[in-house]
Amino acid sequence: MHRLLFCSGAEKTEVGFEIKAGMKIICVGRNYADHARELGNEVPEEPVLFMKPDSAVMQRNNPFVIPAISNDIHYECELILKIGRNGKCIEQEFAHRYISEIGLGIDFTARDLQTDLKSKGLPWEKAKAFDGSAYLGDFKPASDFADLGDLSFEMHKNGIPVQVGNTAHMLHSIPTLIAYISRYFSLKMGDVVFTGTPAGVGPVHRGDELKGFLEGQPMFQVRVR
Ligand code: ZN
Repeated sequence: MHRLLFCSGAEKTEVGFEIKAGMKIICVGRNYADHARELGNEVPEEPVLFMKPDSAVMQRNNPFVIPAISNDIHYECELILKIGRNGKCIEQEFAHRYISEIGLGIDFTARDLQTDLKSKGLPWEKAKAFDGSAYLGDFKPASDFADLGDLSFEMHKNGIPVQVGNTAHMLHSIPTLIAYISRYFSLKMGDVVFTGTPAGVGPVHRGDELKGFLEGQPMFQVRVR
């Protein structure tokens, strides 16, 4: 019981939430084999799911402030889905009807905490669901994209490409994820799904600039403070 019980002044400042009442964020872990391997994880047979609360949302145009809870915050650039209608037990063939928008975001992760929690078999929330950990970049209408199974995206850190992904390399496709998730959790309009990160995750430091591109189009630009 020590520093972890106290917030610094900077952490108490407003983050500027613009949260839709009741939205939830469902995240998929280990959905790209190359990323699962880089962290020394098994490639799972079923999707690995976890959630972030609405208080984790960081809207675009805000800097990401490194929280004092961790000494090793990693970026994970991910394709994100905005849910456009309510559904439970959605069938794969109808999954696309429930996705209104496609975007790009960052699943900020306190890797040191996560490694510790994983080793103890404990839940990941402290490492994955802290304030500001769900960065939502721009969204575009899902109808802009012909094939959800072939979407390329990448993230640059300080001008250097660090993550390059394509939804074709997902272990569990977008329709599979929607079907699987909605067996456990009703999807509601406004919910967001983070679909997992490709290889190339790494730490962020004060002053870094992260830029995301979806199909070559800029989707976010975030400064780390
Ligand atoms: Zn992730």
